Amino acid sequence: MTRTDDDSWDITESVGATALGVALARARENDCDCPLFTDRYAQCFVDAAVERGWRPPTSGPMAERLRVIGGYAAARTKWFDEQFIAAGANGIEQAVILAAGLDARAWRLPWVHGTIVFEIDQPKVLEFKAETLAAHGARPAADYRAVPVDLRQDWPKALRDTGFDTSAPTVWSAEGLMPYLPPAGQDLLFERIAKLSAPGSRVAVEAFSPRFFEPEYLEARAQQWRRMRESGEQTPEKLWYVEERTDLEQWLTERGWEVTVIEALDLMRRYGRSPAAGAEATIPRSVFIEGRLPS
Ligand code: SAM
Repeated sequence: MTRTDDDSWDITESVGATALGVALARARENDCDCPLFTDRYAQCFVDAAVERGWRPPTSGPMAERLRVIGGYAAARTKWFDEQFIAAGANGIEQAVILAAGLDARAWRLPWVHGTIVFEIDQPKVLEFKAETLAAHGARPAADYRAVPVDLRQDWPKALRDTGFDTSAPTVWSAEGLMPYLPPAGQDLLFERIAKLSAPGSRVAVEAFSPRFFEPEYLEARAQQWRRMRESGEQTPEKLWYVEERTDLEQWLTERGWEVTVIEALDLMRRYGRSPAAGAEATIPRSVFIEGRLPS
């Protein structure tokens, strides 16, 4: 599971399987008493992956970890939903979902009529998604354009070739992506986003909080992974680039974006999904950054 500069994956392997973890969390949220959102496709993705041999953890420390992280994934999903809805209400009719994975927003959000939604992810991930949705007769709620390309390659060209309009304001999202890019990859991604963003564009990002890199937090995480490995679990931490990187809040601000930031635990509290006492170290120390470029 070690990463390389040009690795690729199918949905049940390596970084691809992380999208299934998110789908599982969304399926559970969808089925709870008072869900933060409705995602009736999440369970379809999980079921289709199980048919291909994927086995979600059902007991043991990894299953418990997924349960705790579920509240984080739910709050995060809700926050990104709100970013797209707000952008549409403010006249933005072009959306780009970076590392879309099994995000079903193009099928489940009430998009403003005429909105174009581009999704970028690795080819096999988008292929699995399209096949699963087609098997369930799902129809996109926007003008949907798949852009199957690796985000370390020339994705701006692939995006333009699919009809992206560089003169129209865009809402961008990067949810569950930053840990899978090394610091230089993150820098390049944002240079490209900035270049493609017409006045009035918005960006919504889940990023490492600078507090993620505090030694005692890193040690607490390492201990959690160690304990899981000792109890025979396969752990995914090698998929992440846990390396300090550009502070996106500052980077965007310096380039004229109006930025607001909320820490993960504050977001979870806002949506009534605070972790149980003692479980905070399991929650990623992320920040949710909203950037708006003046019109
Ligand atoms: N954003 C989605 C969501 O929240 O449901 C998926 C999140 S999942 C944790 C990570 C996703 O990032 C996977 O779908 C993976 O394929 C995608 N990804 C990671 N690195 C990528 C890259 N270099 N190019 C394209 N996609 C990438």
